[in-house]
Amino acid sequence: MTSELQNWSGTYRFTARQVIAARTIDDVRRAVAGGGRVRAVGTRHSFNDLADNGATLVTVTGIAPDPVLDEASRTVTVGAGTSYGAIAAWLQERGWALGNLGSLPHISIAGAIATGTHGSGSRNRILSAAVAGLDYVDADGELRHARRADPGFDAMAVGLGAFGIVVRVTLDIEPSYLVRQDVYAGMSWDGVLAGLDAVMSAAYSVSLFTDWSGQSLQAWVKRRLADPEDAVPGEFFGARRDLGPPRLVDAPVDNLTVHGIAGPWSDRLPHFRIGVPPSNGDEIQSEYFVDRHSGAHALEAVRRLAGLVTPLLLVSEIRTTASDRLWLSGSYDRDTLAIHFTWRNRPGPIDAAVREVEAALAPFGARPHWGKVSHVQGGQLELLYPHLRDARALFERLDPDGRFSNRRLERLGVRVIR
Ligand SMILES: Cc1cc2nc3c(=O)[nH]c(=O)nc-3n(C[C@H](O)[C@H](O)[C@H](O)COP(=O)(O)OP(=O)(O)OC[C@H]3O[C@@H](n4cnc5c(N)ncnc54)[C@H](O)[C@@H]3O)c2cc1C
Repeated sequence: MTSELQNWSGTYRFTARQVIAARTIDDVRRAVAGGGRVRAVGTRHSFNDLADNGATLVTVTGIAPDPVLDEASRTVTVGAGTSYGAIAAWLQERGWALGNLGSLPHISIAGAIATGTHGSGSRNRILSAAVAGLDYVDADGELRHARRADPGFDAMAVGLGAFGIVVRVTLDIEPSYLVRQDVYAGMSWDGVLAGLDAVMSAAYSVSLFTDWSGQSLQAWVKRRLADPEDAVPGEFFGARRDLGPPRLVDAPVDNLTVHGIAGPWSDRLPHFRIGVPPSNGDEIQSEYFVDRHSGAHALEAVRRLAGLVTPLLLVSEIRTTASDRLWLSGSYDRDTLAIHFTWRNRPGPIDAAVREVEAALAPFGARPHWGKVSHVQGGQLELLYPHLRDARALFERLDPDGRFSNRRLERLGVRVIR
């Protein structure tokens, strides 16, 4: 039944035999109680076989969001299959906000947090760090609750679907705020490499876009403003504010969030608007997380590969995230520079280029994004994630028969090989 099921970009074809579209939490419990291998799938925006299992998949995106606001504890609890765009709009209507968002509001909360999805901002942690609690269906089909203070929670917040099917998520919130984003064109590579930390920390969220050729980059700068009329500088580290319509590869300008005018956080933190496709999706993505202290050297290493990378690339985005304590987070225990590649959909040459990029970034302890293309394997990951063994031990204890496991988790050393 799922021979047609593909990921969002059409670059991965699922092998699962059936997908159960749950409408209620009881549907999820029944699906798990049915036996065999079972695994959650979200909005299928990952670029590898992480969500697949050759057997039964369950999606919770059809369960009603039913958001519950707790102003006293500053949290919202919502159906895990809800998109970030939907909960962001709901919170904004009530004067509340999330601390950050990824570039795309279309993705499900459960799928995003499971892979350590992040936005940008040197003081902003990845989206999973805002998870205060999880309701999930365990390997026996029972509904369980886990809170931030519980032992092992640090493995579950970036949980890779490895311990159960998350049905509701509790997220930290804060009062709503205004954001304005502006594009600055013509930032010099020399200036960025000389003052990387200053550049990336100069606003609430800074993204640099490049194709690695030439001498300059483009910066997307998102500032929190107290007043919508607050002035923003015309220059950013020598780059000029670009007053024309923003451009991001071939995305129509109407698909991008508004630039040059302050607005609610929910409409400015993502690069893409909810409700429209971000681009044609004919792409492959990979991304690596390095210690920010060696970030400039890591960027120089990729720049040396420009001859190989640029012709295969749609665009690269460079972002930062703050250190956290989540065992499988790309930012575990280190302030991080994230180096992302949106490749053209040319699997053979991209495969080779990804291997070259990984070799160039290996000396910097580069951790690959769990949801994107990568060839980094289990033994290497144990060196990159000091708590990988602890996470594996926890997942094995919660799911002793490996019902939520799959080949990729086994290859990565996140679950034992069966
Ligand atoms: C256009 C585009 C832009 C992107 N932008 C960013 C970005 O800005 N930052 C970034 O870090 N990443 C980004 N990504 C990557 C994306 O955020 C991740 O791949 C994310 O996992 C996608 O969420 P999903 O719901 O589609 O998950 P899926 O791909 O469907 O699943 C991913 C993982 O989540 C698990 N999962 C899903 N639902 C549940 C559940 N209910 N319970 C337990 N586990 C579950 C699955 O088992 C699987 O292991 C982008 C991807 C695309 C295509």
